[in-house]
Amino acid sequence: MEHDFKPESLMMTHGYKPELSEGAIKCPIFQTSTFVFKTAEEGKSFFELAYGLREKEIGEEIGLIYSRINNPNLEILENRLALWDDAEDAAVFESGMSAISTVLLEFLKPGDLVVYSSPTYGGTDHFIQHFLPTIGVSFAFFHPDNTKEEIIEIIEATGKADSLQMIYIETPANPTNSLVDISLCREIADHFATEEKPTYLCVDNTYMGPVWCAPLKLGADLVVYSATKFIGGHSDLIAGAVMSKGGLMTRIKVLRTFLGNMVSPHTAWLMLRSLETLKIRMERQAQNASEVAAFLENHPAVEKVYYLGLIPENSKAYAIYKKQYNSPGAMISFDIKGGEKEAFQFLNKLKLIKLAVSLGSTESLAQHPATMTHCALEPEQKKRMGVTEKLVRISIGVEDAKDIIWDMEQALANLIS
Ligand SMILES: *Cc1c(COP(=O)(O)O)cnc(C)c1O
Repeated sequence: MEHDFKPESLMMTHGYKPELSEGAIKCPIFQTSTFVFKTAEEGKSFFELAYGLREKEIGEEIGLIYSRINNPNLEILENRLALWDDAEDAAVFESGMSAISTVLLEFLKPGDLVVYSSPTYGGTDHFIQHFLPTIGVSFAFFHPDNTKEEIIEIIEATGKADSLQMIYIETPANPTNSLVDISLCREIADHFATEEKPTYLCVDNTYMGPVWCAPLKLGADLVVYSATKFIGGHSDLIAGAVMSKGGLMTRIKVLRTFLGNMVSPHTAWLMLRSLETLKIRMERQAQNASEVAAFLENHPAVEKVYYLGLIPENSKAYAIYKKQYNSPGAMISFDIKGGEKEAFQFLNKLKLIKLAVSLGSTESLAQHPATMTHCALEPEQKKRMGVTEKLVRISIGVEDAKDIIWDMEQALANLIS
């Protein structure tokens, strides 16, 4: 009998054969650089496949050669990760930036144009604005509130619309949770694509994936993650991932082989551990966040709360929210009444919630975007994005919701006076 297991049911066992590891229930760490071939003929055959010198025979898999090319921890991790996004394949990298820059380097060539949604993660923004032009790739950007017509106009105004190779988006945007419409961007990509030249759509799904949003189903070709965040989920590792469809993964993995930026066996093993609890962690975080958001919304020291669960119905953002996400997520930002002084007082008084950047982990984290993650932005850009001195960003963890709320309440308490 056939049965379709849910990803969460497969995270403990999928792709691992205990009989190959002395019957160990858990996949050991394959802390090895190279693998022994049984015979010279086998070595020859593995290399032929790995270097594309011949086609795979039915059911044949690339044999283990060398840990920059493949390693059991890496392969099992990628097979499990791909299940969440219903991707053809996944590739895991030593950081989110490594995953993102490898994708951009593989798909953008001299003369190409990339268009991206702003705000985007600072490292990505820097790579697009400062590195890509040095290899002859030009860029333009749009904002989450731009319409389809406006985005098309922005692309045409570059004079390079014929060379549009990629639309790169990040949604919800950090730190204010503004939404970008993934399927609308697919339409725009198709508008510019030709027979000879596809226009790829790449989505940074770090904030909502892989449990709450599946961009490949909404028209994305490539999905990138900082796996440091929800996927790793314990603030104890740095990693990144790419998911794809349409046969794009070979190109990504070939470039990864030559850049040598695959994740290490130890980090891959930690991520296998993390994936077992991914869904229950994210569900608990989202449940906690909904309670925290309700508390903040009614607090007299709080001016405004930015949280997907509070988007007004009948708005354009609400329609995108309903189409793209199956949860309001676990990221909350809010404007505190006052400015930097009040925000800092609040952050300094927190007892349970830690004052740190990063997000998506089991512990709740708070930070001040204007002076921390987004400090390098031009004042004009900060204003446009709503990154003001009164904005605080919180990533909600798996603690008891009442404890998180207690902590915020006591930290906000003397601000009202
Ligand atoms: C953290 C983050 C990145 C970068 O990932 P690293 O793992 O730190 O390299 C990229 N995009 C988003 C949305 C992030 O939050």
